[in-house]
Amino acid sequence: MKFATKAIHAGVHPDPATGAIMTPIYQTSTYVQRSPGDHKGFEYSRTHNPTRSQLQDALAALDNGRHGLAFATGMAAIDCVAKLLQPGDEVISTNDLYGGSYRLFTKVYEPLGIKFHFVPMHDMAAVRAVAGPKTKLIWVETPTNPLLNVIDIAAAAAVARECGALLAVDNTFSTPYLQTPMDLGADIVMYSLTKYMAGHSDTVMGALVVKDDELHERLRFLQNACGGTPGPQDCFLVLRGLKTLHLRMQRHCENGRAVAEFLRQHPKVEKVYWPGFENHPNHAVAARQMRDFGGMISFVLKGDRQEDAIAVLEKFHYFTLAESLGGVESLSGHPASMTHASIPAEQRRKSGLSDSLIRLSVGIEDAEDLIEDLAQAIG
Ligand SMILES: *Cc1c(COP(=O)(O)O)cnc(C)c1O
Repeated sequence: MKFATKAIHAGVHPDPATGAIMTPIYQTSTYVQRSPGDHKGFEYSRTHNPTRSQLQDALAALDNGRHGLAFATGMAAIDCVAKLLQPGDEVISTNDLYGGSYRLFTKVYEPLGIKFHFVPMHDMAAVRAVAGPKTKLIWVETPTNPLLNVIDIAAAAAVARECGALLAVDNTFSTPYLQTPMDLGADIVMYSLTKYMAGHSDTVMGALVVKDDELHERLRFLQNACGGTPGPQDCFLVLRGLKTLHLRMQRHCENGRAVAEFLRQHPKVEKVYWPGFENHPNHAVAARQMRDFGGMISFVLKGDRQEDAIAVLEKFHYFTLAESLGGVESLSGHPASMTHASIPAEQRRKSGLSDSLIRLSVGIEDAEDLIEDLAQAIG
């Protein structure tokens, strides 16, 4: 089955009770048993819910995995993976990681005795330099946020295999439309479904996809034992979003290219970060592992002054200033004071995140209108 067909059909089937073609919202906490233990596979909605089951199956199919696990938020999904670790274990991740993941790792799991190495993972030599027998998890996010560095997933998988570690990929920016990390050797694919997957900025949710049955069993145990599961209404919204994922992503990519090209030739723009440019330092890796380059773009203005960046952000009409990304509408952000404020200033500078950097999530509006908005805001 090809991608668009999967997005619409995989994992879902008409409701057996009524024939409803769209998965109903099973708004129930519990299920009737005819006799103790005699039930239809559903006992309690933290453990199983039919709306969630269909979403989990759809997610597994889109990523060429075998099992999906849905969570109340993306952070709950990451937390579930981190709970596989023991004191003394080591984790390698990227030094321009999503701020919330960095906070979870350093503020919650480091004090419990887990050691984290944050290195520029687009340089695999930096990963190898800290990898060893204690490495139990390699956590990749690609492209990274907000600098759009691209990490070689297949190369990271090779390092993970050598040290017997799991490779997890936060695929939130790419979605399975652009890249399927499991095909490149990842053990776990993670999503903030809040972003492109749900796609309409109307729900917060997360997910994991895995192939291995035993790993799935361990994660499913944690999902139920710790209880960070989503409600059926949110699962329904994500299921609906997934049906147009391919159409939305195609337009995000087209508009992304138009916006990146416009910014690149603008006399007041110093630098544009977008992996689709041939002179992007990781373009070759991006072209190999991604099917297109996405709609996330960052740029820095000439002079690199924070006040100039803020003036531009205040002038936008369509690029609404807001946290988050991946919705149908275009959004703008100032990572240093918004999404990445939880990363210390010194650490931010070390990873090359300038205080005047503007991040765009290019939506699916008309590209002409988006470019007009950028032109009037930058001046
Ligand atoms: C938003 C985001 C998360 C966290 O997901 P929530 O749904 O907000 O909990 C994790 N990783 C990336 C790359 C994100 O953009």
